[in-house]
Amino acid sequence: MTHCHCCGSAIDTSDWYPIVTAKDERGNVALYAFCDKQCRETWRAQTAD
Ligand SMILES: [Zn+2]
Repeated sequence: MTHCHCCGSAIDTSDWYPIVTAKDERGNVALYAFCDKQCRETWRAQTAD
């Protein structure tokens, strides 16, 4: 089961959902899934420098 990286809701992976790729502090590429665009934008705003 995939869960939203922002709010923790379960994501229905049979539908489209936003994914963001970002590098962690070690330079590894990580995938973050979100239940909708709103959560993606909220997470982006929180993680922006
Ligand atoms: Zn969410």
